[in-house]
Amino acid sequence: MVGLRVQTKLFIAIAINIALFIGIILFVIKPYFIEKSIDQDEVMIRSQVDSVSEVFSNRRSMLERTLIDWAVWNDSYDFVINPNEEFIRSNMGYETLENLGISAMLFLNENQDVVYSEFSRFYASDNEAEREAFTNDILRFVNASGIKQNAVYGTDYGPIVFMSHPIVRSDGKGTAKGTLVMIQKIGPDFISAVSAQAKTPITIRPLSHNRLIIDQDEKFARVSMPLQSIYQDANWELNFSVKRTYYLNTMSMLQTGMFGLLILGLGLLITLFLTIHRFITMRLLHIVTELKQITHERNGRLRIRSNRRSRDEIEDMATTINNVLDALEETKTESLNRAFRDSLTRLPNRLAVEDMFANAATPATQIAVLGIDLDNFRRINDQFGQRTGDALLTFLASRLNFYKEDGFAARIGADEFIFIHPKWSTREMRLVANQIAKDVTDWGRKQGMNGLTTSIGIDELNHIDRPYTYEIMMNRLDVVLHEVKHSGKNQILSYDEIESGSHYLHMLEMERDLRYALKHGEFELYYQPIVSPSPFAVRGVEALIRWNHPVKGAISPGIFIPVAEQLGLISDIGRWVLRQAVSEIQEHAHSHHLFLSVNVSKRQIADGSFLEELRHVLSDTKFKANLLHVEITESEVGGNLFELQQFISTLKEMNVQISLDDFGVGTSSLSFLQSLQLDIIKIDQNFVKGIPENKFDRALLEGLYQTFHTLGLDIVTEGVERPEQLAFVLEHSSSLIQGYHYSKPVPLAQLEHYLKKTVLV
Ligand code: C2E
Ligand code: CA
Ligand code: CA
Repeated sequence: MVGLRVQTKLFIAIAINIALFIGIILFVIKPYFIEKSIDQDEVMIRSQVDSVSEVFSNRRSMLERTLIDWAVWNDSYDFVINPNEEFIRSNMGYETLENLGISAMLFLNENQDVVYSEFSRFYASDNEAEREAFTNDILRFVNASGIKQNAVYGTDYGPIVFMSHPIVRSDGKGTAKGTLVMIQKIGPDFISAVSAQAKTPITIRPLSHNRLIIDQDEKFARVSMPLQSIYQDANWELNFSVKRTYYLNTMSMLQTGMFGLLILGLGLLITLFLTIHRFITMRLLHIVTELKQITHERNGRLRIRSNRRSRDEIEDMATTINNVLDALEETKTESLNRAFRDSLTRLPNRLAVEDMFANAATPATQIAVLGIDLDNFRRINDQFGQRTGDALLTFLASRLNFYKEDGFAARIGADEFIFIHPKWSTREMRLVANQIAKDVTDWGRKQGMNGLTTSIGIDELNHIDRPYTYEIMMNRLDVVLHEVKHSGKNQILSYDEIESGSHYLHMLEMERDLRYALKHGEFELYYQPIVSPSPFAVRGVEALIRWNHPVKGAISPGIFIPVAEQLGLISDIGRWVLRQAVSEIQEHAHSHHLFLSVNVSKRQIADGSFLEELRHVLSDTKFKANLLHVEITESEVGGNLFELQQFISTLKEMNVQISLDDFGVGTSSLSFLQSLQLDIIKIDQNFVKGIPENKFDRALLEGLYQTFHTLGLDIVTEGVERPEQLAFVLEHSSSLIQGYHYSKPVPLAQLEHYLKKTVLV
């Protein structure tokens, strides 16, 4: 199959659409949401930075306020001038520092000597030496020039917030008498407190950059925030991280969304695919499969079967295809009818009979067959017109239909009909045959035709005795009808009757005997003179074969010639006839200038055997070719015209003459015969039978003579038996005569006797 199947194409189209949809989401909608979430996260981070810085600022200002409260106070002022226990007892103690959130507090006098120092529990060391070291550290800061009074310094104990203020009177006037230092250690407690306040875990470490840095990784934004903005000289920075909540949420939402979308897409794809498959492709496939089946089986009655009741386009398509098939079938049936039916009588034709035999599953055990041939049908057409002829045929067809019962009637030739009955025997067939013959004669009488007769042959075939075929049936019928025609028409004969005449029950037996006869000289040639009546002269002889069967006696050529033709033996027989006739007649022919007429049949023409033998015989015997006549029958003309024309022109080149035998038995038109280079027309003896009594026959024969004379053809009238017939022929023509009136076909010796007698006369 070229290209993709519909299903695959649809599948791909849907898949591309879904992929496009997912692509748009992936490359347009997804980045938009991510960007938006990053923006939101940034706002959140900024606000977190603000809140951390606010926590620290608050701490610082609280510490500053506390420092000022204590430093600008008369009691502190008095205390640094005159340190006393009373001040310490009522104001100091590490609980105080703890409450104030201070790690250490140092009172310095004007000389920057420590007057009093107090450490909070947060500061955590009871070790006197450590405290002293720490105090010394702080004093270094105090003394160091340039130190801001509000700063963060690193110490051995971690970073600390350092603040100092001059100690003055409560009214703020006068000179300072000392300095109050407050230290706030940025230790774990402090960090955890501010972390709690800022609601984010904060760490502190030495400064790495001088500005706010926000470092983002997949999950967190890590903030490095310098403490300089809050405290002076603070070489420290705060570190805390903010979860990228919006970003993470969006990402997870998108991930779930994408996954869902993918599943949805796949689901959609499958659903669409299945839907299309079920509603379209599967049904198309069904139609295609059915059509293939129909094509394969070549059964015109098959149709696409539908398993649906709902109507849609596909259903419409199937219906339309079925309608087309119906129409085709109708056309086929019509043309079959035309091919298998005779248009005039509406009876089946010869093809139909053949077809019936070819298509019968098993042949009927026994059939009775009736073959009808209208006598002189041609004459009826000529005298009464085509219309009457047609009416006769239609009438005969209607009679056949009437008697048919379960049988089968067909028109197999111009005036030939066949009637087959599967249950009857010869006896029943004969009854019907008699009836039909009578019906036809009656019909003729009504039309003003006296003596309208039929030739009927009957046969009975038994499949058990001997398997029969269409060919066997037709051959046997041919044999019977041939016999009927040649023994005077107007009668009903059965194959049995003819066969018992020749004592042959089976053709096979005859074949064997014919071969034997050829080898062992059982054939003999009789010769029948062909004479010119006035003045009397023997002009030629026709060689007619005879078979003297040693057991069965003489067998008529009317019986064995058709069989020999059928069996292909006619060519061998014909060769023998030609050679024998030439050798027997040559002497007489040459000395009395007699022509020799021999019969050839279709088969001998077709297989070239006759021409071949003729060349040999003529060169072997030096027989004068112009004395040889070749008789072909009209039925031969109906065969291959071109072949026949070739045959005739070859003979003409050899100077051999051509006779058309049995003119009037067939149905060929005159113009058709004119296309052949004929020399002699032999008018069939049936034309002579009714002479001189039958007016119609007389008219017809007269017409024929006129026509053939006009055409410049020589004529031989066959079957002249009575003087009246001879008189008629003499009166109307210069035709030659062949008939019992002068002589029957006779053996050679008798012919010689006849010749002697007539030559003497
Ligand atoms: P056909 O060629 O038409 O021969 C004339 C037939 O009419 C002969 O029958 C002859 O005996 C018969 N006939 C002649 N004059 C009269 C007459 O006045 N009255 C009547 N009632 N009959 C007459 P035959 O000899 O029985 O031959 C029958 C047919 O057999 C021939 O018809 C011819 O078709 C065929 N046939 C005979 N010999 C040969 C042959 O050597 N080769 C071939 N192919 N066919 C042959
Ligand atoms: Ca003949
Ligand atoms: Ca003849």
